[in-house]
Amino acid sequence: MRIVLLGPPGAGKGTQATRLIEKLGVPQLSTGDMLRAAVAAGTPIGLKAKAIMDAGQLVPDDVVVGIIDQRIDAPDCATGFILDGFPRTVAQAEALRAMLATKGLKLDAVIELVVDENALVDRMRKRVAETIAAGGTVRADDNPESFKTRLETYRAQTAPVSAHYAERGDLKQVDGMRSIDEVTAAIGTALGR
Ligand code: ADP
Repeated sequence: MRIVLLGPPGAGKGTQATRLIEKLGVPQLSTGDMLRAAVAAGTPIGLKAKAIMDAGQLVPDDVVVGIIDQRIDAPDCATGFILDGFPRTVAQAEALRAMLATKGLKLDAVIELVVDENALVDRMRKRVAETIAAGGTVRADDNPESFKTRLETYRAQTAPVSAHYAERGDLKQVDGMRSIDEVTAAIGTALGR
């Protein structure tokens, strides 16, 4: 299955993607994780992306489209993938459709995790506290100022992606305010699994 997970930062896309990997046996493709790996490795893309990401803005469409285009050709994507954090702009959604079409493929489902915005900052703070308690490294963009920009970026550039898929009749919305298990179950129902 080829699936897109949509939702604001802190909606739980990563958590649910991890569960879907097991259930569907396809990889999670997180552009955020891939970009963070590029930053850590100091690649040219990473060097270009770091300041943009830290500020909570979007890296250019052509960069992420290029990353995904290459990644979905890998053998582990042959039976499908879960896109997490991509597409984040309508232009990326259009590029994705075109890219899949040239490969003779199309999406099976677009799932949006719908979350009350007031809950998101609290979730980010909780993630930071848990990461520190576990001795991990807090994401450079998990601070109140960058998070505010991430939410604004989401509203301005990514919310229209949901509308784009809804217009095409491809969007399935799931209540992301319920427990992790309930959200997983609701996604399963939406996918007919
Ligand atoms: P979030 O918790 O906000 O969903 P991600 O890990 O998905 O975070 O992404 C972190 C950052 O990486 C984003 O704020 C953005 O700078 C960059 N990024 C990730 N995916 C994309 C994308 N599809 N287009 C542009 N920038 C992206």
